[in-house]
Amino acid sequence: MSYVDEVMAKVEKTYPAEPEFLQAVREVLDSIRVVVDANEEKYRRDALLERLVEPERIISFRVPWVDDKGQVQVNHGFRVQFSSAIGPYKGGLRFHPSVYQGIIKFLGFEQIFKNSLTGLPIGGGKGGSDFDPKGKSDREVMAFCQAFMTELYKYVGADVDVPAGDIGVGGREIGYLYGQYKKITGLYEGVLTGKGLTFGGSLARTQATGYGLVYIVEEMLKHMGQTLEGKKVAVSGAGNVATYAVEKAQQLGATVISMSDSNGFIYDPDGIKLDVVKEIKEVRRGRIKEYVDKVPTATYTEGKGVFKLPCDIALPCATQNELDLEDAKALKANGCILVAEGANMPSTREATDFFLENGMPFMPGKASNAGGVATSALEMTQNSMRLSWTFEEVDAKLKDIMVGIYAKVAGAAEKYGMAGNFVAGANIAGFEKVVEAMQAQGIV
Ligand code: NDP
Repeated sequence: MSYVDEVMAKVEKTYPAEPEFLQAVREVLDSIRVVVDANEEKYRRDALLERLVEPERIISFRVPWVDDKGQVQVNHGFRVQFSSAIGPYKGGLRFHPSVYQGIIKFLGFEQIFKNSLTGLPIGGGKGGSDFDPKGKSDREVMAFCQAFMTELYKYVGADVDVPAGDIGVGGREIGYLYGQYKKITGLYEGVLTGKGLTFGGSLARTQATGYGLVYIVEEMLKHMGQTLEGKKVAVSGAGNVATYAVEKAQQLGATVISMSDSNGFIYDPDGIKLDVVKEIKEVRRGRIKEYVDKVPTATYTEGKGVFKLPCDIALPCATQNELDLEDAKALKANGCILVAEGANMPSTREATDFFLENGMPFMPGKASNAGGVATSALEMTQNSMRLSWTFEEVDAKLKDIMVGIYAKVAGAAEKYGMAGNFVAGANIAGFEKVVEAMQAQGIV
């Protein structure tokens, strides 16, 4: 049995109850097979893959807090410090009822390669809780965030581990978490990113993941001899990533026809009115179906369906495994020419394989949504330097980073005889840097 298959079998046997983690590991190990096979003896002796797939540390804790009725609630909290080979742990916090150890491990594992692709000195980590911020009062969210940080503060720090936002964790939650960290430690340091602009946040961080996604799409289109002008774009999700992907795509001349949340999706053939979406989602924290009250020419449909809409470009920006094989087939049948992931692992393995087998340009999330964490690293830099760059400066650096990621991903795929396979390219390019750092640092 090859070393890759041996390690995969071990991981499957050890973590059968973590399907998302197994899915992420399987995809990476399959992609890096060519590199591992060429170095099999050395990697096996050093147990390199075993070390790569096992987090350096998992912190798991209880989070007790009091709700508005005076009832004590208890949630699970996690921080997975996966790899510090190339820098301090860096990765978001997710607050969503579906969170369990396997979700945080999958996200932390992906984060290692994503962070490596940015070219910046950041390792891989991820955290979160099964707390659901939906329907909670501001006071309840604050109470939860304070309780969460009261445990987490022991394990994080500006040069140790720097969390950020993810699903269910936006500016409000980061503010409460930061306040509590400062209160407990007495330190005013860059321990979190995605902070408000009045207390160390970076301009353009809010927009960064969505804008970065569209910058890499632009680069892919450029290599296909095309632009975004006049393209019809289907977007899923209505959160941070989706909103700013829509904004940048529209600025570059595309017509975005859809957005969604976990209840259903809106279809607006005339182009999404983003000011209406922002008012619903960012100001009122409402549901996407309210869009049709303001824009009666649009339609709302309960359930899934964004990727059945005819479009030129598909940008899944909601959550893992939201785009399945049926969606992939529908996209191809409807003439879609490009898919780029805004969310983490939104395409199932079957959908990903379908895109690759059918030669559809497909950019995996660990490359295409890396603009968020890259800009978080720029926020860390500004915090350390005690200065703030302008929006234009940060945005220009973000664009450079995304163009650089495209070049690394496309270059690695070509180098290993898989030109156009951006999944292989992203995994190999991300892996090469991490593995070199791991080897240089000895058995730790
Ligand atoms: P938000 O919480 O801001 O928005 C998430 C959106 O996805 C909401 O519209 C939400 O709908 C929808 N959604 C969440 N879970 C589900 C589900 N199970 N089924 C259908 N829809 C769902 O999160 P972000 O925009 O920050 O994150 C979106 C994705 O992008 C995630 O995969 C995240 O890991 C990834 N990402 C985020 C980065 C960032 O900088 N924020 C950076 C890199 C990746 P509802 O309101 O109904 O729950």
